[in-house]
Amino acid sequence: MSAVRKPITPKPARKREKVLVILQEQCKQCGLCIEFCPKNVLCLTDIYNRKGYHPVTACDIDACVNCEFCERICPDMAIFLADREEAKEAYEKGALQEGTVIPEFEAEKEEK
Ligand code: SF4
Ligand code: SF4
Repeated sequence: MSAVRKPITPKPARKREKVLVILQEQCKQCGLCIEFCPKNVLCLTDIYNRKGYHPVTACDIDACVNCEFCERICPDMAIFLADREEAKEAYEKGALQEGTVIPEFEAEKEEK
């Protein structure tokens, strides 16, 4: 072991490259993404979509590590990761299809 002590400096907050996008009208409440998310980011809402299901949302979006497991496991392509800048532009223009939720941007809006 080295006798030289290294300074302990905190790592900068990890900026996620992508944002989580949920198409709540496409969700069929199968729960697979919730079960397979390694960080317990996802949960069900208590609202109903047009199909009569409770769609998924993010209950702890800060914990998301962009692993894409949810995207890979969803049989309905209702959840995926998108390029941050492109998603931001569409979100700010209101150019998202109905039922689209981007939890990270929603959280930022609530903080303002
Ligand atoms: S990308 Fe990974 S950590 Fe983020 S919500 Fe999906 S499964 Fe969970
Ligand atoms: S895997 Fe897809 S369809 Fe199933 S609960 Fe998650 S988002 Fe909804």
